[in-house]
Amino acid sequence: MNKKYTTKGLHCYRSYTIVELSEIINIHPDTIRRWMKTKQLNPVGNNIPYLFYGQDIIDFIKKNNQKNKINLSPGEAMCLACNKATKIKNPNIKQKENWKIGRTGKPTILLSGLCSICNRKVNCYISQKTYEGLRGVL
Ligand SMILES: [Zn+2]
Repeated sequence: MNKKYTTKGLHCYRSYTIVELSEIINIHPDTIRRWMKTKQLNPVGNNIPYLFYGQDIIDFIKKNNQKNKINLSPGEAMCLACNKATKIKNPNIKQKENWKIGRTGKPTILLSGLCSICNRKVNCYISQKTYEGLRGVL
């Protein structure tokens, strides 16, 4: 499972059939059948139509979304061409007044530079606090 799925619209105290789940998560019913076949997702009992607990599905999706997550260490950015976390070469820092990105509404700094592997441009948005910690690294 490489795609990131949403748990929006799923309720933990409800049970769902394969067709209901495929409509809520917006995936093909065969994907859910494959998850069942590979024992990644288990139905409640063995009666047809197969039913799945909402909480089981939410846990499964959250666990798999977490598995695909890449944590960046200080001074690193995600290169989309290499699909890896890479060190930033020739770092360039941009900061604008009242430039706030994301839900927190805290001031944000754009750290851009070149990928150390393929030399393509990489960008990384960091907080003021992270930037102050990076001063020795960059
Ligand atoms: Zn790269």
